[in-house]
Amino acid sequence: MAVDSFLVASLLLLGVAAANIYDGHQVWRLNDLNTDQAQAIHTLLTGLDFDVWSHGRDWLDVRVPPHLARPLQRRLQELAVPHSVLIDDVQKKIDEERRVLEKSQGKTGIHLNEYNELEVIEGYMSELALEYEWVSIKSIGKTYEGRDLWVNILAVPGEAPKPAVWIDCGIHAREWITQATCVFGLQFLTSQYGEDEAATKLLDAYDVYIMPMHNPDGYYYTWHNDRLWRKNRMLHEGNVCHGVDLNRNWDDGHWGGAGTSDNSCSDIYKGPEPFSELETQAVRDFTTDLRNNNNLTAYFTIHCYSQLWMYAYGWTGDATPDDEALYRISEIGVVALRSVHDTRYQFGSIYNAIYPASGTSIDWSYTAGVVHTYTLELRDTGLNGFLLPPTEILPTGQETWAGLVAAIMAI
Ligand SMILES: [Zn+2]
Repeated sequence: MAVDSFLVASLLLLGVAAANIYDGHQVWRLNDLNTDQAQAIHTLLTGLDFDVWSHGRDWLDVRVPPHLARPLQRRLQELAVPHSVLIDDVQKKIDEERRVLEKSQGKTGIHLNEYNELEVIEGYMSELALEYEWVSIKSIGKTYEGRDLWVNILAVPGEAPKPAVWIDCGIHAREWITQATCVFGLQFLTSQYGEDEAATKLLDAYDVYIMPMHNPDGYYYTWHNDRLWRKNRMLHEGNVCHGVDLNRNWDDGHWGGAGTSDNSCSDIYKGPEPFSELETQAVRDFTTDLRNNNNLTAYFTIHCYSQLWMYAYGWTGDATPDDEALYRISEIGVVALRSVHDTRYQFGSIYNAIYPASGTSIDWSYTAGVVHTYTLELRDTGLNGFLLPPTEILPTGQETWAGLVAAIMAI
């Protein structure tokens, strides 16, 4: 009995510890970085496994645990890098989010103005397939923890076979606004077909494949264990830590290059080999079939945050042979997106817009032959980072889909 209650007490303590792992953590923005400073900072932060939240050409956001605040500040002073505090207390923000979620506990079904749990999104995807004759749901594979990788297929019957468009969200687990934006798209396109001009035009011209949760194991983990988990949950033999960064695991010909890590505990761990992960294998195989059989016209993969619309390459600053076309379509997307709520996006190649990143799905997809391959970084520009308030879900969905439809229709 004593042992049992001791166990219970320890488990409770563990639960409490896990719930408050970000006490006193801040997010800092390092400003006005020149090329040398940016390189020095990157080497420093990745070497120490700091959690870099986002970065642009001359700035970088990093989560700073309390015990590392002073040493990092000293180092920044030596490098003459100014910084400001973007988020004063990460745990407080997570707690706020949790309080909002708890208020809606007990409600059933999907809620478009709230973040939804994995099971709720899966249920919604199945419901759509039951409700609409032209919507189906398909599992394209399983994860390490045995979850299905679900895709909804929106295929309104037409006279001739239609080309396909692929859109995935949530390859990075903690980017909750992305899963929510794919859910918004499902709701928008299904309910507005025949009503809204954009939705109707899109579905008359294309079969649309939407995967709201590219990384369901990771998404589940962000709800139940660690809100800021980014990778999948794979544990490879010989590794110390769980998880591979699924967006560093693609064989784009430059796997393991700049912007990746071979340390399993790093948030940008590339995995033991290209396509070592079930999630990247499944999407590779499914979209390869689409490309071969259905003329895959566009491939979108949705991230957050920073408000960027990007295309290949990530591994090098050299332009692709299709740079002009990619620039043109991106501009159309960004203009349409801005027209809804005046949200401003920048656009360009990954390498030039943010920072080198090798082994990404868009370099893979572009190299595999889908010219119109884009990645979006949704709201915001750092005020809330990954902890975007649910009040921003609907406006983000509206503007993102306005941009997506306008871009696809312009291809
Ligand atoms: Zn991401």
